[in-house]
Amino acid sequence: MRDTRVSILRTNWVDPMCGMQIDTSCAVAEEIYIGVRYLFCSEECHRLFVRAATRHITELAHGGDCIGYRCPNQRANGEIR
Ligand SMILES: [Zn+2]
Repeated sequence: MRDTRVSILRTNWVDPMCGMQIDTSCAVAEEIYIGVRYLFCSEECHRLFVRAATRHITELAHGGDCIGYRCPNQRANGEIR
């Protein structure tokens, strides 16, 4: 651990919906979800992401192994509404 100040585990520098490379200076929207910050090139990409967020993040976090299932770890973190 070289930086313990941030609670964000990492930032995804690619728009997860369209695959476009993006950074904070040109991001239209951002979403922090379960410790990962996602940046978006457009409101449409952001909207699509939020709609699919649970399924999408579960895939990313677990490699597609437990889609739709909230494991005890996730519940303990209290990040899921
Ligand atoms: Zn996009």
